[in-house]
Amino acid sequence: MARYTGPVCRLCRAEQKKLMLKGDRCKSDKCPINKKRSAPGKDPKARAGKRSDYGIQLREKQKLKRIYGMQEKQFSLFFERALRMPGITGENLFVLLERRLDNVVYRLRFAVSRSQARQLVLHGHVLINNKGVNVPSYLVKPEDMIEVKGPSKNLVVVKEALKEFGKSGVMPWLHLDPDAMKGKFLTAPRRSDITDLTDIKEQMIVELYSK
Ligand code: SF4
Repeated sequence: MARYTGPVCRLCRAEQKKLMLKGDRCKSDKCPINKKRSAPGKDPKARAGKRSDYGIQLREKQKLKRIYGMQEKQFSLFFERALRMPGITGENLFVLLERRLDNVVYRLRFAVSRSQARQLVLHGHVLINNKGVNVPSYLVKPEDMIEVKGPSKNLVVVKEALKEFGKSGVMPWLHLDPDAMKGKFLTAPRRSDITDLTDIKEQMIVELYSK
């Protein structure tokens, strides 16, 4: 299935939300969302009109899908898996998304964005438990060690990305040794741990797929 290759800022403008798809640029004044521009191709007055329940649920799914850089088919497979797991489906979905290898590489600060993390994985720069894994959707398990491969530790993009660790650390379910460029997935997060995505209403996504 074709991957979206257009301007990613357009996706944020469509959702009227910072999806943080471009690393450092997202935190700078250059982010178009900071300039409060309207959604591409839309009249702001038209957007202000009432959306249907379906429309609201659909937008919520699109936001989450785009944040994690996934295509529709794969996202719906993750949802089906979340549905089969015991517990609350929306929370299960978040746990599965957070366990994706490209997401873990991003969360460990080896990359400034999930798309850059995806490239690192695809190009074989990442080891799990000392073995190369080049599948971005690979699901990391508790106690797995995730490491930048030996020669790849010299990559400027990784060194630059790791500078962010000094500013904001890593999420509480991860441990990182920034000098060794090695991290550990300690445990699966709870929904409440994912503090940068608290505004996503996963129940709406569950309702959408239940139709
Ligand atoms: Fe989205 Fe980042 Fe572009 Fe801002 S800079 S619109 S947060 S991708």
